[in-house]
Amino acid sequence: MKIIPVSEPNIETKEIAYVNKAVKSGWVSSIGEFIEKFEANFAKFCNRKYGVSTGNGTHALHLALEALGIGKGDEVIVPDFSFIAPANAVHYVGAKPVFVDAEKDTWNMDPKEIKKRVNLKTKAIIVVHLYGNMCDMDEIMEIARKNKLFVIEDAAEAHGSKYKDNMAGSFGDISCFSFYGNKIITTGEGGMCLTNDPKINKKMRLLRDHGMTHNNKYWHEIVGFNYRMTNLQAALGCAQLERIGDFLKTKKRNAVLYEKFLKDVPWIEFQTTKPWRENNYWMFTILIKENSKYSRAEIMNILKKKRVETRNVFYSASIMPVHSKYFNKKDKFQNSVYISKRGINLPSSTKLTEKEIKYICNIIKSL
Ligand SMILES: *Cc1c(COP(=O)(O)O)cnc(C)c1O
Repeated sequence: MKIIPVSEPNIETKEIAYVNKAVKSGWVSSIGEFIEKFEANFAKFCNRKYGVSTGNGTHALHLALEALGIGKGDEVIVPDFSFIAPANAVHYVGAKPVFVDAEKDTWNMDPKEIKKRVNLKTKAIIVVHLYGNMCDMDEIMEIARKNKLFVIEDAAEAHGSKYKDNMAGSFGDISCFSFYGNKIITTGEGGMCLTNDPKINKKMRLLRDHGMTHNNKYWHEIVGFNYRMTNLQAALGCAQLERIGDFLKTKKRNAVLYEKFLKDVPWIEFQTTKPWRENNYWMFTILIKENSKYSRAEIMNILKKKRVETRNVFYSASIMPVHSKYFNKKDKFQNSVYISKRGINLPSSTKLTEKEIKYICNIIKSL
């Protein structure tokens, strides 16, 4: 029997046909029909005016910070429990990441903790909708409005999630997505910034393309980057976007089945999706509570022996030496550390069968 992976891309004939078309067209770099189509269609999917595609999700975050003029001397609030890209992007522009603890139940950044860390140097908040679970956007947008802060949504894990009927990525001054191989839709590597502001759109396009003036070749207005997506990537993205409705349905089905089969296991904790949120269930994740007979490592090992691949969740930034100088010794990121030591990502791909989910859950239940 094959290994059941944590995640695998769902590539079928449509993807192959579109990529073939792009290759055969000769437009293999960053000009071509698929790029414009992918930017327009993805922006529309998220209910935004402009889409600026990038080489990956980390480029998108860096581009967003640059476009908002954030730099040296500025502080940007980021979640302590998250993939590290948003904090790294803050470093790229020479600003200081200010970490905040997670909420115990949603695992997302705690608005009360955000409030405590706003000061005169704070310029922006990067919110991450973790595993597709939407942050408390009413609260966070209110904090931003009161303190005149930018909001950057890192929606790399949240394509198709909703907060009070509004799409993930429709809130921030800029929202950033990733299309890495394990995300809801993939372009191989790839990313996108979305905005409703024509000036920000223009600035991001300039920065993405070496700072080169649109209508005067090799005239550079500012120091920019090459953060462009290729037409080949965008071809893959166009095909994936046509299938996103099916992917979201399958992710939801996976979550419903996992919760049904595991709900009576007394040593497991789930991530809470609060009312008025629609989770895309990007990565189905459980926490191993203290009353478990086996440790997290033991459980992962048992599953591995039965050919079920799992993954530990992100580490709290507060416990990594490279980030420790950005923390006050007296700060305790209790929730974030708790989650990071106890979380396991279970297989979550759109190719999972109901039988496989049952198989995985039966192993867990037997412990
Ligand atoms: C995947 C991910 C990114 C980065 O995306 P890349 O395309 O791998 O650069 C950023 N933030 C979060 C929360 C992610 O999950």
